[in-house]
Amino acid sequence: MLSLEKLSAGYRRLQILHAIDLEVRQGEIVALIGANGAGKTTTLRAISGLISPTDGEILFDGTSIGGLRPDLLVRQGLVHVPQDRALFGRLSVAENLKMGAYTRVKDATSALDQVYELFPILADRRRQRADTMSGGQQQMLAIGRALMARPRLLTLDEPSIGLAPNLVVQVLQAVQAIRDTGVTVLIVEQNASQTLAIADRAYVLESGSIAMEGPGRDLAADERVRTAYLGM
Ligand code: ATP
Repeated sequence: MLSLEKLSAGYRRLQILHAIDLEVRQGEIVALIGANGAGKTTTLRAISGLISPTDGEILFDGTSIGGLRPDLLVRQGLVHVPQDRALFGRLSVAENLKMGAYTRVKDATSALDQVYELFPILADRRRQRADTMSGGQQQMLAIGRALMARPRLLTLDEPSIGLAPNLVVQVLQAVQAIRDTGVTVLIVEQNASQTLAIADRAYVLESGSIAMEGPGRDLAADERVRTAYLGM
């Protein structure tokens, strides 16, 4: 579904990603793990059109999308949830969700029902202002808003950041539930051990290059990964 072929990207003259190869197949949860500053966020930014590649290809359904505007990618089914969540703080939960459906006004009601089913707390709080919700609820709202656009591929940048352990579990369970509805997921995480447990396959990014790749379970059992990323 998504292939990065020798993708390079960065900021002005600062090259962060060095010829990355990465693949996400339909129906998978693929995890991208790595230390702070390895380039995980930069990878998702390039995929979602927030920055342009300096070299290499990004193929979505076999078509080159490198450098396309994020809103055009959303219409093609590629939807990104950024690390800072980028909610509309003064709008209500329901209004935030509706904003996510701006490309799909026609089937917004059924999408809304699905989001409320996945995250009942959002239904309970539909009239509450987004910026008065807890961190975990805001993360669910950010994911819910992305689902309103009916993505085929969802990219998530550290959805569990700053959350209490029980909420980390809840968010990662929601990611599995989303995949079970047929949405393919590429997730960047610091909570590497829990993320590898739900990932079909994973990649380890080190200083802007792919250092390792394999099934999530294999990487979780790998000595190097355990020492460097799982704190064991
Ligand atoms: P983190 O877990 O800290 O988010 P990361 O693996 O996602 O780490 P990136 O955010 O992709 O890493 O950052 C990779 C490198 O790019 C870092 O050295 C960072 O300082 C640099 N960087 C990030 N954003 C910018 C920017 N807008 N301008 C210049 N450099 C940037």
